Amino acid sequence: MNRVTTSYRAAAEASVLMALSLLLVACGQPATEPEPMQETAPPPPASTATAYTGARVIVGNGNVIENATFVVDNGEFTAVGAAGSVSAPAGAAEVDLSGMTVMPMIIDSHVHTTLSVEGLTQDMQRRAVMGVSAALSMGRDAYDELLALRDNPPPMAARFRTAGRGISRPEPGRPTEPHWVDTTDEAREAVRTEAARRVDIIKVWVDDRDGQYPKITPELFAAIIDEAHLYGLRVAAHIFTLEDGKDLVAAGVDVLAHGVRDRDIDDEFVEAVRAHPELIMIPNLPERGVPTDLSWLEGLMPADELAAVQAGNVMDTDAQEAYGIQARNLARLDDAGMRIAMGTDGNVYWGAHIEMEDMVVAGMSPADVLVSATSVGADVVGIEDAGTIEPGKYADFIVLEANPIEDIRNTRRIADVYFGGQVVDRTL
Ligand SMILES: [Zn+2]
Repeated sequence: MNRVTTSYRAAAEASVLMALSLLLVACGQPATEPEPMQETAPPPPASTATAYTGARVIVGNGNVIENATFVVDNGEFTAVGAAGSVSAPAGAAEVDLSGMTVMPMIIDSHVHTTLSVEGLTQDMQRRAVMGVSAALSMGRDAYDELLALRDNPPPMAARFRTAGRGISRPEPGRPTEPHWVDTTDEAREAVRTEAARRVDIIKVWVDDRDGQYPKITPELFAAIIDEAHLYGLRVAAHIFTLEDGKDLVAAGVDVLAHGVRDRDIDDEFVEAVRAHPELIMIPNLPERGVPTDLSWLEGLMPADELAAVQAGNVMDTDAQEAYGIQARNLARLDDAGMRIAMGTDGNVYWGAHIEMEDMVVAGMSPADVLVSATSVGADVVGIEDAGTIEPGKYADFIVLEANPIEDIRNTRRIADVYFGGQVVDRTL
C-alpha cells in the first residue's frame, strides 16, 4: 500500500524529499555515461515507512516524550522514542511535526449509536473526524447487521464495539431492544444469547427509573455476572444509587457504566473500590449547566446543526446540582486511585471533547483525563492494539496545535487525525 500521506505539511515534505532525491540521482549519474548502473551505489531501498519528528508525544499511559520521533509502517507504530534514540528506516518519508503535540486517538467507552447500518456508519465516520478511534455501544444493538459492522468496518470509521442487547427488568414504554428478565434462569439465558452473538461486554441496567419499574435485584445481577464470567465476558453496569453501586462492586462487576448519582459517596464505597483495583468507572458526567464555548465546532458541522446545539447551551441550575454530585464523586474516586475511563453516554460525535473538559472541571488532572480517554478506554472496549503510541499499536493519532496537558480544551485544536497511519478527511 502506498503510505505517502496527504496532509499539507506532509505533502510539502514529500515534494522536498522528491526534489532532493532527483537532485541526488542527477548528481550520481552524469549524463555523459549512459549505463553505469552496476558501478554506482544502489539507491536506498524503497521504504513504506514514515518518520514523524519533533513533536511532543503524549503516549496515553501517562508518559510524555518531548521532541519525539516515531515511525509508522503498514498502519502501525514501529518505533517510538526521544529524537536520537529512534532512527528511521532507510528511505522512509519524513514529516516534521515540530511545535505540535501528538496524542493517541480518543476512545469513547459508553455510547448509544444509531440503530441502522447507514446511521451507525455515519456515526462512526464522524467520530473519526473528531479524533475518536473506537466506541462501545451499550446495550441496544439487537440487529445482527450492526454487529456485522464491527467485523467488517466501513473505511475511516471509528471501530465499533458493542454490548449487543443489554439486560433489565421489563420496562414497558422504554426501548424494547434489551432483554427483559425476571428470574435468574432468564438472566443467565440472556447472557448466553449475547455470548453466542460474540458481544464485547455484557450490559446490565440496575435502575428503577424513579420508582417506575422493579429493578434488577442483587440475586439477578449476581447470576448475570457469574454467567458472563463463565464465558470470559466482562459486565458493565448502569447504576444510579450508591447502594446498588456497593452491591455490584461486592458481586464482582467489572465496569461501572456510570458514577453514583443519587448522593455523595461514603468511606465504605471508597474502601470497596480500593479493594477492587481492576474495577473501572465511566463517569459520563452530565452537562454542567453552564454555557460553554462551542465556537470550535464552526466549520465542522452544518450551520443549522450548530445553531440547534447552541440553543441548548444555557444556564441550568438543576443540571448544576446533578453535575455537582457526580463531579465530587469522580474527584474522590480519582484521588483514591480508581481506574477511570471516558464515556459520553449518547450519540454526540464531538462529545468526547466536552466530556474531557467536564472531567477536568470535576477535579481530575488533564494528564489523567488523557489516560482515561485513551489507554483505559482501550481496556474497556477490548482493543489491545489501541490507546497508546507504542510499537505494535495501530497508528491512530491526533496532531494538535497546542498541548492538552496545559489546557484540556486543546484536544479540540486538531491539525490532523491519522487513523491506521492514514490522514482522515475532516470535512463532514
Ligand atoms: Zn448509557
